[in-house]
Amino acid sequence: MIKIDHLFTSYSTINGPVHVINDVDFEIFDNEIFGIAGESGCGKTTLLKALYDIIEFPMVVDSGKLILSGEKNGKAFSYETGQIRKTWWNNISYVPQAAQSVLNSIVPLKNQFLDSIPKADKKNERSEQTLKRVSDYLEELSLSPDLLNAYPFQLSGGMRQRVIIALATFMSPNVVLADEPTTALDVVVQRGILMMLMRLQKQLKNTMVIVSHDMGVHYQITDRMGIMYSGSMVELGKTEDIFEKPIHPYTQMLVGALPRVGDKSQKTGIPGRPPALTNPPPGCRFAPRCPKATDECRKTVPKFSEVEQGRFAACHLLNRGGV
Ligand code: SF4
Repeated sequence: MIKIDHLFTSYSTINGPVHVINDVDFEIFDNEIFGIAGESGCGKTTLLKALYDIIEFPMVVDSGKLILSGEKNGKAFSYETGQIRKTWWNNISYVPQAAQSVLNSIVPLKNQFLDSIPKADKKNERSEQTLKRVSDYLEELSLSPDLLNAYPFQLSGGMRQRVIIALATFMSPNVVLADEPTTALDVVVQRGILMMLMRLQKQLKNTMVIVSHDMGVHYQITDRMGIMYSGSMVELGKTEDIFEKPIHPYTQMLVGALPRVGDKSQKTGIPGRPPALTNPPPGCRFAPRCPKATDECRKTVPKFSEVEQGRFAACHLLNRGGV
């Protein structure tokens, strides 16, 4: 499980701190695919970096923490912010945005696998033995072991993405974080990658956290999801509930903008743009774009609270009998 406990993060700039994550507080459960959605610049990737403990200047955790806990091979573990990196690959791994560019184009994949697998997992075995295990694992994922002799530049974008996912899951980590895993791939390849992630999650019975701006990705593979807006979580719940009955006006507009089979109505998108994080509006940050905004919205920040069991939202209208 991952507990995100009232997390606040910022980026240091010459003009002072820019607050990017504001009081984000929720849990991600074992054995689920959890999605994090929202427009570009809403803090999704920063949150994922904090989850993976890549907290390096200019990013700063101002307050709050993350706790990664669970059990692997009969042994319980618990790591907090600052310690999570000790368990990279073993308990948690990361598929970064534009993962394809992570691979070194002029180094054969087998060397990149050998370099990435921590010594502890190699158990004093010879390289050939480790490569045999990698090769067996690739076969399990319906990938050809011949890939190990290839150079990344010889592979398509989709195949490189599959290799990165294989690398990230080789040690059966309890949690796999994936940042925009299907961006820049064509629709057919996207579908293949999503199917691969779903199959892996079922096989490993682990937790996957998928960050994507594409609501279609969340609809297809996530069990629960959270919607972020301007550095805060504004709605969280089961994916099917969020798509069937969105609560927060921002989620309603995101879902309403999606094309549906048989629906011929004109889709308009969400007017306006998210506020600059350097100068956000007071009160609810969605107020300048929200058709339901009131004076209270423009003055007071709405609380992120449980609306019904397992369903959370941050909107003043909830206190007045619904949105
Ligand atoms: Fe809209 Fe007000 Fe709810 Fe914000 S708090 S989403 S402005 S109704």
